[in-house]
Amino acid sequence: MTINQIIKRIFFHIKTVKLHSDTRGDLSMEELERTYDFKSHALDQQAFCPYCNGETVIHWESISFWKCPSCSLIFRFPLPDGHSVVELYEDSWTDPFENRSETGGTSFDLAVVYARKLADTLDLKDFRGLNILDFGAGRGDVLTALSELGADVYGVEPFGYEGLVKRGFKMFRTLDEIPEGLTFDGVITMDVVEHLMTPWEEINRLHGLLNTGGFLYISTPNADSLRARIEGDKWREALRPGHFVLFNQNSLENMIKGLEYKSMKRLKWYLKYNENNIHNLLVYILQTVGIDGELRYLIRKS
Ligand SMILES: [Zn+2]
Repeated sequence: MTINQIIKRIFFHIKTVKLHSDTRGDLSMEELERTYDFKSHALDQQAFCPYCNGETVIHWESISFWKCPSCSLIFRFPLPDGHSVVELYEDSWTDPFENRSETGGTSFDLAVVYARKLADTLDLKDFRGLNILDFGAGRGDVLTALSELGADVYGVEPFGYEGLVKRGFKMFRTLDEIPEGLTFDGVITMDVVEHLMTPWEEINRLHGLLNTGGFLYISTPNADSLRARIEGDKWREALRPGHFVLFNQNSLENMIKGLEYKSMKRLKWYLKYNENNIHNLLVYILQTVGIDGELRYLIRKS
């Protein structure tokens, strides 16, 4: 195998992988530096926007994130070398189910809440009669929640692939493995796009996998959230080493508009995260003004 082929393989691997950050927890700045050793990269080189090619300005210098004034995209540059990213992903996936005790219960409960909310948003009682693809299926919580609501589910997941196949799910490691002719009524991708280096390419491919009238649901951390504004380069989403691009409303909408989708709508779901009413009121207010932690979009193919 030539060096070029090796590099291509590694990047292919990275691009199609969702790092399950909730199985790993947050990294401190020191751990992140150790992981990527980005301090060794000179920041005096100009980074061009990977989306629009525009000139950019340094955004969070300590963690090498840049921002494009034209399209608002925030992105990591230089990108870590392929080997350290693959290592990191493999490490996170050594024992995804062992780590369930820390995060698993909540994530399944949340997956059920999100699946119900999505059905409501689509004006559906449930997902019976629909086939839905979960791009970046992780440990399968969303697949389970959707199928409990009647959907015929399929998943794309390179790392959790084996385990999910054993549990009886119809899985693909990458988008390339999806057989020609198989299309979906809906595609869901939750907290995945920020893990991709050029997510507009994958989102564009998902368009071709949707049936006429099909929907795409995307969620991703909100780089304009109150937390991101306050915490800056200490924002947990920026510190997660598997995150390569971070969106705000502008950059996400700009990206979708540049593709062939017909329409998009930012969803404001008033979710009750816990029993603390003050916390819930705060989340409600943040969602109303659009600076809550998550961007959620329902996008239509036609
Ligand atoms: Zn740009």
